[in-house]
Amino acid sequence: MNTINQTLKQYYGYTSFRPGQQGIIEAIMSGRDVMGIMPTGGGKSLCYQIPAVEMDGLTLVISPLISLMKDQVDGLLSMGIRAGFLTSQLSLDQQNEIIRQAIRSEIDLLYVSPERLENDYFLSRLSQMNINLIAVDEAHCISQWGHDFRPSYQAIPKVRAYCSTYPPFAAFTATATQKVREDIAEKLELDDPYAFTASFDRPNLTFSIVHPKKKQQKLLDLLKDKESSVIYCNTRKNVERVHAFLKKKGYGVGYYHAGLTPEERTRYQEDFLYDKTPIIVATNAFGMGIDKSNVRRVIHYNMPLDMESYYQEAGRAGRDGAPAEAVLFYSSQDIITNNLLIEQGNHPHAKKNLNTIISYCKTGQCLRKIILDYFDETPQFETCDNCSNCNGETELVDVTKACQKILSCIYRMNQQYGMGLVTDVLRGKDNARIRAQGFDDLSTYGIMKESADQEIKDIIALMVSEQFLHVGGDQYPILKFTEKSVDLLHARSQLLMTRHQKAERTNTKQAAVEEYDETLFEQLRALRKDIAAEIGKPPFVVFTDKALMSMA
Ligand code: ADP
Ligand code: MG
Ligand code: ZN
Repeated sequence: MNTINQTLKQYYGYTSFRPGQQGIIEAIMSGRDVMGIMPTGGGKSLCYQIPAVEMDGLTLVISPLISLMKDQVDGLLSMGIRAGFLTSQLSLDQQNEIIRQAIRSEIDLLYVSPERLENDYFLSRLSQMNINLIAVDEAHCISQWGHDFRPSYQAIPKVRAYCSTYPPFAAFTATATQKVREDIAEKLELDDPYAFTASFDRPNLTFSIVHPKKKQQKLLDLLKDKESSVIYCNTRKNVERVHAFLKKKGYGVGYYHAGLTPEERTRYQEDFLYDKTPIIVATNAFGMGIDKSNVRRVIHYNMPLDMESYYQEAGRAGRDGAPAEAVLFYSSQDIITNNLLIEQGNHPHAKKNLNTIISYCKTGQCLRKIILDYFDETPQFETCDNCSNCNGETELVDVTKACQKILSCIYRMNQQYGMGLVTDVLRGKDNARIRAQGFDDLSTYGIMKESADQEIKDIIALMVSEQFLHVGGDQYPILKFTEKSVDLLHARSQLLMTRHQKAERTNTKQAAVEEYDETLFEQLRALRKDIAAEIGKPPFVVFTDKALMSMA
């Protein structure tokens, strides 16, 4: 047995390496720059920790979150590996003590935040340390093309020059698009790196898209087993609402978002990690680097904004390799919103992200295949038998006739209204607005009264995303014809819709209540922020808040 195998056994208690780990460790120990790309839970930490133990001197680990550093260091200490971290939460005395230990090589690993690398005092001390490796965790944060861009990561490349030893860089990430990969290597100025990319397939995860009539009821069904679960919502308010709901129903549940105090966040996070509360409801602020192996389920209560963050979040389920599920709640409102964002936005990257996730949500194909395609992997299968589409939980229905009714109605309403009012007229609803406009006299008034609101909205959403309808307007989102509309109207084109969860939809007569609320605003705000971070400029205005309001 060679020594790295012994170290694996002795400290971690594992008998064999996972794919890629050994190669990466050997490359690091031979002094080469390294880039390790593995999915969440793939085992990246050990790839720099073992060299740190094996080699003389100190490994500097750059890590984006304090909670993450603390977890890792606690874990290492409990295994008998000497490690420490520097954060501004420590007193100056404590910080100086850690720096002293690092200079004397009394620890093997020192975890720091990227911000620390902007601190002159710290930089001046680096030359006194015998640094054998700089490990960059969550390295995609350096790329503006990634979904977690952190400006302070840009301070990392120059750090090497402060070290008397000119150590190698080892960059790790679970974000795998080619563009981000290239960007990381370029930004870190990696020199002929040894690169390893693990397969992103997670065979133990069952992917599904569900389209619940009532999201909250669906949550209760899914959570019946009380297994450890993460529920991602798009806004703080939704997080709090879903949390309050589950709590009222007697679940052991915590929550997490950026609006909580650091103490609250730590408490909820730890209660979750140690299974005191098996369920956590969170925004996407939660989870980076969290190593909880027994999460059985990740639920996306709202549609995510891009595939990369979706997969990373979903990938937090089943890290122990046992069966686990990733469930995404589909809503036609989210589809419309995202289409509007695409329509009115002007950033090609955001557009591609939104488009990808929209197609994922409405596809009838194998979900796993779509994911792997996205990550530039060529899956060896057409169907995986382990996703809601392969398991036959979806059905394809021809909605051409319904589309024709919808188009006629929009036409008769002079193409000046949004989804809500068009749906009301088709259903034959009686309200002041309809009467005032005389829509109750239209020949299309009530021609879809047998259909549920949700069904009609789903079809409209699909028509928009297939460009049979255009959604635009400066003030309000208005449905208008496109060049393709007429083909559908005359049945020269046909439109098929994937229906998720067919069993649940057999008796959906009555109007479905979807939870719209301030979701749209928050989603838009988040997107604006993303885009601002990506382009390094203040965000453009996508469309007015009033326009958003009218969609709800
Ligand atoms: P990530 O790639 O997301 O950073 P981690 O490094 O946190 O993943 O590892 C995920 C889990 O896999 C951890 O619990 C870790 O101990 C475990 N693990 C890593 N390597 C191995 C291995 N060779 N054998 C068994 N378990 C491993
Ligand atoms: Mg990690
Ligand atoms: Zn499949």
